[in-house]
Amino acid sequence: MNEPTSRQPDDAVHDPYAALQALASPAVCGGCGAVHADGHWAWSPAPPGAAATTCPACLRERDRQPAGELTVDAALARTHRESIIALARAVEAREKRLHPLQRIMDIAPVAPADGALTITTTDPHLARGLGEALQERFRARATYAFARGQHLLQVALTP
Ligand SMILES: [Zn+2]
Repeated sequence: MNEPTSRQPDDAVHDPYAALQALASPAVCGGCGAVHADGHWAWSPAPPGAAATTCPACLRERDRQPAGELTVDAALARTHRESIIALARAVEAREKRLHPLQRIMDIAPVAPADGALTITTTDPHLARGLGEALQERFRARATYAFARGQHLLQVALTP
């Protein structure tokens, strides 16, 4: 039997990327320039004496380990591909401005012959936000499920 899919992850401390947030404060990411201070990340000037680090989003990009994965059904993707990508980029830009770790990693076809589209993210909240925005815009249906020991949020968008 499958578990209900709306459960929130409750074992974030076991997520190797989340665990990295318990690092020196203040610290600045050498990859993207995000600054970690007081327990969260922001786009702010690095304070004097900030330790050098790599943020979880840059680590995920380096390791190609997304925290969110949105799959757009082939029928939807074929009809609305450009609008879907434009809306996804707009949602990302809005979220990333306040939350530096919420980024799109890749937008790619699931397989060359298949029409489906997959959008991977560095944070599960962004994948959820994309699912909600696309669902509303295209009157589609978004379903959510956690995978990989709750560390990957998979969102499926269907007509
Ligand atoms: Zn970074």
